Amino acid sequence: MPSKVALITGASRGIGRGIAVEVAGVGYDVLVNYAGNREAALETKALVEGAGRRAEVCQANIARREDADRLVQATVETFGRIDLLVNNAGIAPKVRADLLEATPESYDEVLATNLRGPYFLTQTVANRMIEMLRAGVISSPRIVNISSISVYTSSPSRGEYCVSKAGIGMMTKLFADRLAEHGITVNEIQPGIIETDMTGPVRAKYDKLISEGLTPIRRWGRPEDVGRAVAAIAAGHFDFTTGAAIPVDGGFHLRRL
Ligand code: NAP
Repeated sequence: MPSKVALITGASRGIGRGIAVEVAGVGYDVLVNYAGNREAALETKALVEGAGRRAEVCQANIARREDADRLVQATVETFGRIDLLVNNAGIAPKVRADLLEATPESYDEVLATNLRGPYFLTQTVANRMIEMLRAGVISSPRIVNISSISVYTSSPSRGEYCVSKAGIGMMTKLFADRLAEHGITVNEIQPGIIETDMTGPVRAKYDKLISEGLTPIRRWGRPEDVGRAVAAIAAGHFDFTTGAAIPVDGGFHLRRL
């Protein structure tokens, strides 16, 4: 029986790589998307192959519609199917600027990458999944969006990032609602503070906050923490769940007294 196929954006490093390895572990071949870091993408490919699955890499800037379309085309041409889309790629603002000073250019860049890109990539992939379902090529497609605790947490030094992630929260609900009739689930993982290149510049700050109890579970999250949650969805353990936001955050979301 042919393997299921996962298209994972931003899978060259960090959380995306963790997801690639974990979904390979539950039987998926993987299309590893990256923006510019081909070497890192090839390392992810090798890790997936080490788990006994097939992987290919594809450069595409998901902020660009034509790149996103090419990415979907490449996945279908290479593997013949898409069973799982993981909208993981995302960026932080280049400069953490106060809400009263941040620029429209940074806003546009972050929103294009973190929200507009995934929104239309999901539209394109959903249409392809519906065609593949009708043709009997796939049977249980799923979509997972990687948002953040920034969906509901105010960080006034990176407002555009928070707005983009809040948008992913609504995007998850919208596509979950629209695609349920086709048997496609759409869920969101909300990672907390995860040890990756993205959080490298604020490592010392978060080390201190975590050790002081910011999160009930006093450790950094790891890419594989998020990867295992996605793998549980990919393996079919959440097939009666759609439009849900699942925290993978060491308990950050708890209100405490
Ligand atoms: P990361 O270490 O900076 O890695 C980012 C990944 O996204 C890389 O694979 C990068 O590719 C890719 N990418 C960036 N811009 C892209 C674009 N325009 N088109 C295609 N790929 C692009 O980030 P991360 O920490 O793993 O974060 C992954 C996701 O989790 C993001 O959506 C982020 O917002 C979210 N998140 C992260 C944390 C955290 O604490 N780290 C917490 C909550 C949510 P290249 O290697 O080619 O540059």
